[in-house]
Amino acid sequence: MTFLQRTTDVKRLRHVPVDMSVDYIYTSGIAGETFFKALRDEGRVLAVHCPVCKTNQLPPRMFCERCFTELKDFVEVPPEGRVAAVTVSRVDRRGKPLPAPEVYAFVTFKGIQEGGLIHRLLVVPEKARPGLAVRPRFKPQEARTGTILDIEGFEAVASQP
Ligand SMILES: [Zn+2]
Repeated sequence: MTFLQRTTDVKRLRHVPVDMSVDYIYTSGIAGETFFKALRDEGRVLAVHCPVCKTNQLPPRMFCERCFTELKDFVEVPPEGRVAAVTVSRVDRRGKPLPAPEVYAFVTFKGIQEGGLIHRLLVVPEKARPGLAVRPRFKPQEARTGTILDIEGFEAVASQP
């Protein structure tokens, strides 16, 4: 039977156990590499600027999703952002209760018109709310590996109303 034929008789279905080697590398791309290197090496968060749309976009990408202009101008994201949305997780992905609730937030930044970052919010669930001023807490330089986890999470800025 070829793959163009099909069977409706389940007794004819066969199962052949095999080990299949699949090697691949998923790269973060040119814009992603610039973003992650800045995180790792400089503790900076970069966005990218579209000169046609006059917008700054986060995370950076090679082409503007609105006008398809190639994007090459990286801009630094302000040191503080605002929580735009929060969620509190009390169970793991299998439904097992977590030892402590985990808080996640979508953080946006002044001057960044498109996008933001989703990450851990390093506050207790009772303090997690939209509008909260936050800043990234970076791992120590020697512990950074060039991933989004070089940021431990976002912590509340000390002076909050
Ligand atoms: Zn654009």
